[in-house]
Amino acid sequence: CGIVGYVGSGSSLEVLVGGLKRLEYRGYDSAGIAVLSPEGDLGARKRAGKLGVLVEELAENPLPDGGTGIGHTRWATHGGPTDVNAHPHFGDGGRLALIHNGIIENFAELKAELVAAGESFESETDTEVAALLVGRAFHDTGDLTEAMRRTVERLDGAFTLLAVHRSAPGVVVGARRSSPLVIGLGEGENFLGSDVAAFVEHTRRAMEIGEDQIVTIRPDSVEVIDFSGAPAAAKEFEVAWDA
Ligand code: GLU
Repeated sequence: CGIVGYVGSGSSLEVLVGGLKRLEYRGYDSAGIAVLSPEGDLGARKRAGKLGVLVEELAENPLPDGGTGIGHTRWATHGGPTDVNAHPHFGDGGRLALIHNGIIENFAELKAELVAAGESFESETDTEVAALLVGRAFHDTGDLTEAMRRTVERLDGAFTLLAVHRSAPGVVVGARRSSPLVIGLGEGENFLGSDVAAFVEHTRRAMEIGEDQIVTIRPDSVEVIDFSGAPAAAKEFEVAWDA
């Protein structure tokens, strides 16, 4: 029910946990994060329950803190609220982590196809099909944006998706259809959020992402395309916020 993404030289753990805290008002049953270190190590922690449970887990089993990461709060639609069903979900042999808000309507059909292709599933979520599809497409293309584009072409339903991959350090790719996603623009760092609350502590400069668009953020750049791959114009706005 909440999504946050970060690229930059700051502490991704701090940005992600802080962002998820600000999104708590939306309600959720589980929380999780994945961080990618500059060396390309990908680590993730996810737990059913309140954000405090995840924060305790991080204190007991710390993650190496990188400048790239994604964070998620879940409101379960497919698969009960368990640690395994919490996001992120993984693809490409654990090299890719993906989070999702929304519902993938045709997941059963995609799951059958992936199982037939030899993939195995860890969770009962609709989300895991997207993680495996982006993982497979990354394996074929070596490009996280193109991997996301090929995947969203196959999905029906409503979704905000964010993904990171070990072989794409300093990059977060997001996509949206009938589900919210906003860009936060920083100096040498950029943010994604399901809502400006996710990053308003860090920047008031934001950009809208249109329906059926994909965004790729790096510390010094933001690129938006549509689902056909054509560049899309994004409109900048100033966040009005009385914190
Ligand atoms: N449908 C996904 C799940 O059940 C995402 C739910 C959400 O929006 O948090 O895991």
